[in-house]
Amino acid sequence: DDLTELDARVSVCRACPRLVDWREEVALRKRASFADQPYWGRPIAGWGSPDPSVLIVGLAPAANGGNRTGRVFTGDSSGDWLFASLHRTGLARQATSVHAGDGQALLGARMVAAVRCAPPDNKPTPAERDTCGPWIQQEIRLVAPTVRVVVCLGSFGWAAALKALRGAGYAVPRPLPKFGHGTEIPLSGPGHLTVLGCYHPSQQNTFTGRLTHDMLDAVFTRAQELASA
Ligand code: SF4
Repeated sequence: DDLTELDARVSVCRACPRLVDWREEVALRKRASFADQPYWGRPIAGWGSPDPSVLIVGLAPAANGGNRTGRVFTGDSSGDWLFASLHRTGLARQATSVHAGDGQALLGARMVAAVRCAPPDNKPTPAERDTCGPWIQQEIRLVAPTVRVVVCLGSFGWAAALKALRGAGYAVPRPLPKFGHGTEIPLSGPGHLTVLGCYHPSQQNTFTGRLTHDMLDAVFTRAQELASA
């Protein structure tokens, strides 16, 4: 199908030289605790339902998380937080996401990274975000018929998702609306949907208490409400 074709095309993308070098260097060097495991070391495709009502947009794969396991938010601490919440709110079958063959499944949801290759220090440049923009834009076009809510994790995912939505034909205001945890932006375009802001479940937010389990659950509970409205 079209999503499978998109995944195949993105999986061989080499458009960002700095990120190609990093994703492959990390995959060769490996973290000591994962020395016996193969690393994916390539772009990370979108994952989940092919006809989702909730689309979750993250920042970029973690060097030893998605870049190792080949599945977004899988095998790292951000994913532990995220999937626990998705499970509590009925959007994921299991509370953990450990590796690509763990039996996990998203329920009516799909997740994508705004930038699909692991960046050094988890920080893609704005140029890399824009270079990767066409991939998320194509994915949004393909799932637009069913999506009712786009949950953006962090301000980077927020900006990338809004730009991609604009490119996919949604009436996104200029300048881009400001990111905030719990901020909701209703959009019209190919369909009606709501963009919902959420702090990224990165360690710098979860360790410091800036983002709590309750705050994460509140966002996904609200996403479920909007999706079924
Ligand atoms: Fe290609 Fe995106 Fe990876 Fe850049 S970040 S190499 S555009 S898949």
